[in-house]
Amino acid sequence: MELENDRYSLDGIDLLDLVDEYGSPLYVYSAKSIARQYQRLVQAFPLTDLHIKYACKANSNLNIMKLLRKMGSGLDTVSIQEVHLGLHAGFQASEILFTPNCVSFEEIEEAVGLGVNINIDNIAILEHFGHEYQDQVPVCLRINPHVLAGGHAHIQTGHIDSKFGISIHQIRHVMRVVKANHIRVEGLHMHTGSDILDPDVFTRAAELLFDIAIEFEHLRYIDLGSGFKVAYRADDVTTDIEQLGKVLGNRFKVFCEAYGRDMQLWFEPGKFLVSEAGILLVKTNVVKQTVSTVFAGVDSGQNHLIRPMFYDAYHHMTNLSNPKGVQRIYSVVGYICETDTFAYDRKLSEVRVGDVLAMHNTGAYGFSMSSNYNSRPRPAEVLIEDGKARLIRKRETWKDLLTHQLYADQD
Ligand SMILES: *Cc1c(COP(=O)(O)O)cnc(C)c1O
Repeated sequence: MELENDRYSLDGIDLLDLVDEYGSPLYVYSAKSIARQYQRLVQAFPLTDLHIKYACKANSNLNIMKLLRKMGSGLDTVSIQEVHLGLHAGFQASEILFTPNCVSFEEIEEAVGLGVNINIDNIAILEHFGHEYQDQVPVCLRINPHVLAGGHAHIQTGHIDSKFGISIHQIRHVMRVVKANHIRVEGLHMHTGSDILDPDVFTRAAELLFDIAIEFEHLRYIDLGSGFKVAYRADDVTTDIEQLGKVLGNRFKVFCEAYGRDMQLWFEPGKFLVSEAGILLVKTNVVKQTVSTVFAGVDSGQNHLIRPMFYDAYHHMTNLSNPKGVQRIYSVVGYICETDTFAYDRKLSEVRVGDVLAMHNTGAYGFSMSSNYNSRPRPAEVLIEDGKARLIRKRETWKDLLTHQLYADQD
């Protein structure tokens, strides 16, 4: 975001003009930012066979998915619906990895039918899969190396109580099931959760995966998942992707030599690619002084951005309408009948009724986690690309809330 002549813009597009044109609340994404992050990742690894599988649960707008496809990305999907969306966005089935958790076997069979890569995270499912397909359909195995990442407890997946993955300690059982059913394992996968601060977590977990990889003779790729942290606060420490790329990239080359064959290295970033690209613009409905604080109540809430309430996430905010206002503290809250607080004691340029606030870093897990709670429609989405702003999702209306409702009294 840039400030010039008291007006904030993103990639040259005036943000208050966007609110005038498309209304609020409004999600706005920068294609330039997504491209920059994609290039950073690709350039960080000194490898020719690096494959990025964008984790589209972070932001599943078709236009964002298509943008990443054009850059050369594949897709990581966690539901059959995401697989369908990916195919619809033009991805080849072979570029899509399906990484489900606790889905029915029928859903996995449907994914096999669509020809995508299958990632299995449960021995019982692996056994069922092997019985059904033997060596006809290759698989990837999601391994839980039990290496603890940083980040909020809700987004950790590597701990001993996690529901994700097959424990690395069960590998003997896995080998038995694989051999008995002639299963072709062509990939090994791990994803230790979001917000990994320490590159060491990646490398330690990768070492564990390399150790067991030697036992599988048909491997084509190793998928190290994601967890790349982005900065939510100005002074947040982030994953040093360039450092990680160098260390892990070189280690991967050594591993390939030991394995005896070149292999592909896959990553599945969501947040890293799209988080910083997005801002949520909201309008101030009320400024309410109480005995304890001043609330700035905006025309949005946990129904549009749940991260602050769900993960205690911090989202930086800017009052776009009053760039020179005096700094005051506010509790920024939503209009939902819940305690949906976006920010406590947040210092902002004085907020007046009608002022537009920008919530930064909301390109990932913003719209994609939104809901219709309180019967509120979801926001519109705009993509800024090549100096042009384009509407990429219409704002819902109350009539959309009727779409799937039936009239039990009219039959
Ligand atoms: C959510 C998820 C990701 C992406 O995580 P980010 O923190 O957004 O990068 C990658 N892989 C799997 C299997 C996931 O579930």
